[in-house]
Amino acid sequence: MEKVLAAVRVGPSNTEFREFPVPAISEDSALLKMEVAGICGTDVKLYQTPPSNAPVIMGHENIGYIAKVGREFSQRKGLKEGDLVFVEHYVMCGKCEWCHLGQYRHCENTDWRYNPDAVRFGYTSAEKPPHLWGGFAEFMYLPWNSVVHKVPKGVTPELAGLVTPMSNGIEWSLFDGGVGYNSTVLIQGPGQQGLSQAVICKQAGAALIIMTGTSKDRARMTVAKALGADFVIDVETEQNPLARIMDITSGRGVDVVLDCTAGAGVFPVLLGVEALKRKGGTIVVQGEMAEFPNFPIAKVTVKFITIKSARGHSYKACELALEQLASHRFPLENVTTHTFGLKDVDLAIRSVGGHGIPDVIHASLMPWK
Ligand SMILES: [Zn+2]
Ligand SMILES: [Zn+2]
Repeated sequence: MEKVLAAVRVGPSNTEFREFPVPAISEDSALLKMEVAGICGTDVKLYQTPPSNAPVIMGHENIGYIAKVGREFSQRKGLKEGDLVFVEHYVMCGKCEWCHLGQYRHCENTDWRYNPDAVRFGYTSAEKPPHLWGGFAEFMYLPWNSVVHKVPKGVTPELAGLVTPMSNGIEWSLFDGGVGYNSTVLIQGPGQQGLSQAVICKQAGAALIIMTGTSKDRARMTVAKALGADFVIDVETEQNPLARIMDITSGRGVDVVLDCTAGAGVFPVLLGVEALKRKGGTIVVQGEMAEFPNFPIAKVTVKFITIKSARGHSYKACELALEQLASHRFPLENVTTHTFGLKDVDLAIRSVGGHGIPDVIHASLMPWK
């Protein structure tokens, strides 16, 4: 092996295949042989509208085998060659308050929005040596400050490909939303993210899980029911989704709303505010609209609503997600619907975005396929 083949995003919806030299592995680094790079809605967005003109090897939900490891890296992480691992996309500084809390997602070292030198797998420019900063490639470079989790025995690389949406599910619904025993929950959007939330809420003891989607989500709604959703509502055909939610909850509304929609505008937040219980509900949002005209701030105040921002996952959430996958308690194979080879990366991303192969829920890019 002399060269590493990678899919490089060179412009909006434009991929080029390039070869890079195999990086030298020092005492404190490692080389990852890629097995699965999960593709999510963020990839769809970043592929269509790249945040910069830099060439980027995308792929931020990465599972692979340690192919080569320096002595120090091996000692520090407790890993050896041949270990199957999940690599968080956050590359930490290791020194700040957030890093010490296991909340690498907030570390400045990985904050690509504000720090031009930030390192994040799937985001960092391929011009920066040693170039292999993304999972849409045969190999990925792991510096000393990568955050790596060992994949438990009995979890296949493909199943482990779900660890990112599952860990987000734990972070958003349990840690942020406070979902637990007897909670009532409204999950909006039955994509891989929403479905993962349903599993986590069910496992945590939620008494009622309502999931909303649109008419194109019919197949996903069937999977949602198999994974624990008690009621599914098609907000396109249902004349009054709010009335239906109130009917299901005997007029009480829900404790927690989780917005897992993409590109649905202000609707999910407006429905969520209305659907929350009379006082003290929590809504976890991830909208990225620059503006929200006529935001119902008075209602939020009067209903004593807590709004929280959905922002990735912590170290603990990843570990719990891996344990959840290892339990095989839920038929999560129904979520990992499609796999694609490296050459089909463009089709894979388009399909996740709803413009390629139909009925994709979770797609795995497998670079050696
Ligand atoms: Zn993602
Ligand atoms: Zn830090």
